[in-house]
Order: sequence, then C-alpha cells, then structure tokens
Amino acid sequence: MPEYISGELKPAGLRCLAGIHYHPSIQAMKGLLMMKKRTAKLIDGKKVSEAILSELKQEIEGLKAQGITPGLAVVLVGEDPGSQIYVRNKRRTCAEIGVASFAYDLPKETPEKKLLDLIAKLNADPKVHGILVQSPVPKHIDEQKVLNALDPRKDVDGFHPVSKGKLLNGEECFVACTPAGCQELLLRYGYDPAGKHVVIVGRSNIVGKPVAALLMQKAKGANATVTVCHSRTKNLSAVTQTADILIAAIGVANFIKARMVKKGVVVIDVGMNRIPDATKKSGSRLCGDVDFAGVSKKAKAITPVPGGVGPMTIAMLMKNTVFAAKRSGK
Ligand code: NDP
Repeated sequence: MPEYISGELKPAGLRCLAGIHYHPSIQAMKGLLMMKKRTAKLIDGKKVSEAILSELKQEIEGLKAQGITPGLAVVLVGEDPGSQIYVRNKRRTCAEIGVASFAYDLPKETPEKKLLDLIAKLNADPKVHGILVQSPVPKHIDEQKVLNALDPRKDVDGFHPVSKGKLLNGEECFVACTPAGCQELLLRYGYDPAGKHVVIVGRSNIVGKPVAALLMQKAKGANATVTVCHSRTKNLSAVTQTADILIAAIGVANFIKARMVKKGVVVIDVGMNRIPDATKKSGSRLCGDVDFAGVSKKAKAITPVPGGVGPMTIAMLMKNTVFAAKRSGK
C-alpha cells in the first residue's frame, strides 16, 4: 500500500529507483510515480503573509514617527479553546509588527449590556483604531447587535453592515479579512480573477458572501464572473468543474475531490477542519475543505492547509488596522 508523506504519495516496497527490480510490477510502479507527482504550484500563504507583515512593520514605523501608533482592541468573551488560540495569534502578531494591542478577556457569563458598554468605551477611545470581537460570542449575546454597535470606522473585521454595504457598492471600506486574504493570494501569485469564472462553495456571511461581493466588483483585482454554491445547489460537481478559480469555504474536511474540478484550476481552500490523526501527539490535525492529495494533481495552483488562507486572515486584519490608524490621522 502506498503511504502518505506530507500530503504526497510515497511508493512502498520500492527497492531500487534506477534499477528494474520493481515491486509489484513496472506498470504499477509507473502508476505510483504518476500518483506521486503534484503538478500544482503551492500558493504559500505563510510566505505572502510574512511579506505583508514586513511591509506593514515599515509603514507602522513611519506612522509612529508622525505620532500615530495603530491600536487594536481584541475582545474575547468566554474560554472557547479555538477562540483563545486565534486571539493569542492576533495579539502576538500585533506585538511583532508594532501595533498596540488592547486585551479584553471577559468571562463567558458577561451580560450583553456590559459588552455593549465596553464597545461604546472603545469606540470613543482615540488610542483604539480597530475593534475586534472574537466570534463566536456566548449564546446569550446577540452577536449581530454587538457588531452593529461598533463604530464603522473601527470595524477592522469588516462585519459591520456599513462595511458590507460599502463592499457591495464598490466603495472604499474594510473588507472582511479572510475574503481579502483570498484575493491577495490570487493577485500576489499572478492569478488575476478578471474575466475568470470563480466558483465559491459556501455562502456564509464571513467568507462566501463577502468574497463573492469582492471578486465581482468592477475594480482592479476583481472583475470575475462569480457563481456561489451551497448545500442546496443541484449537481454541485457540474458547477465546480467549470471553475477557473475555485474557493472552498464549506467546513467539511476533504469535501472537494479531484473529479469535481477541471484540469488547470486555481484552488483557494479556506476550510480549517480538525480531523483525527493517530500519528500526531495531539491525536488530530488540521485539514482543508479540499482533498489536497487528489486535487493538487489536477490543479494549476493550490493553497495548503495549514499555511494557506489562515495566516493571510491575520495579515489582512493588521492591514485593516493600519488603514484605520492612517485614516484617523487625516
Ligand atoms: P459556515 O458553516 O458558516 O458555512 C458553510 C457553507 O458551506 C454554507 O454556505 C453551507 O451551505 C455550505 N455547505 C455545507 N455543506 C455543503 C455541501 N455538502 N455542499 C455544498 N455546500 C455546503 O462556514 P464558514 O464560512 O464560517 O467557514 C467555512 C470553512 O472555512 C470552515 O472550515 C472554517 O473553519 C473555515 N474558515 C477559515 C478561516 C481562515 O482564516 N482560514 C476563516 C473563516 C472560516 P448552506 O448555506 O446551504 O448551509
């Protein structure tokens, strides 16, 4: 049986690569070697995000020289372990590039009113240029009500209705970080979506809808023909097979298989799913919504998980925060 090593196939029982003593047969070996080959270029979100953060670091030094230190308030309500990791990463990145980070960790029983009071206080604080309330909030709090309470000028996550409306209108605005990260990856790797058929699987308010709105704009870096699919889409494969660019934001591990895409597709995998893996100390590992091993043999380019869209989301959050700070100084 072939074994998987870092997402690629390694032929088992291979005794001599250059020789003729193949097992089980030359034909089978040929097949295995074919299977081993990943033709897709890797779209390296970690590398791109590092480049963006280093650009931002320089920009922040310039802002500090003008007396402006970009400030981001990160509000966490409750002790959800996943959220704690996200928040820790965001705060660490702030420290790395010189953004002042204001931490508000509230107990899970915090009343909605108290959270809204905090938002009002942060809205009025001139040192705070961006406010992020980590999702999800506990069930007794109306998340949309909290988002609506943000000053849209500080909505660095791009979830306020004003930001969403402006995005649809094609006005300058805070674009939600994950969709902005998807677009940035495409552009930095030279895959301009203009005129391309972009198929998005997923229609959530935080990924599917905003990335569709972003890429369909009559604007540089967009101008795509966009199709959005979801769980009620009939004959999904027939649609995904027509994609020049496929964006998967489904939340189901390895959902997009090789047979669902056409050769030469560019794939952006937003999915972040934890699946059991006995070989890991933790007993699990992260994987995307795309069957990387299969799809990467047909695609022109593909993002890995982890190391694709994930790091870009934080980089775009920092970009939005710096933008908010610059705008506040005007
Ligand atoms: P949601 O659960 O909010 O949305 C999932 C979407 O996928 C829905 O529109 C749903 O359709 C659709 N869907 C589910 N099952 C199917 C199916 N069988 N066929 C077709 N469509 C289907 O997820 P999110 O958008 O919040 O997140 C999606 C993934 O992206 C998750 O893995 C999440 O962890 C990850 N993520 C990663 C981020 C990053 O920074 N890398 C940031 C945000 C999310 P319907 O609307 O009909 O229910």
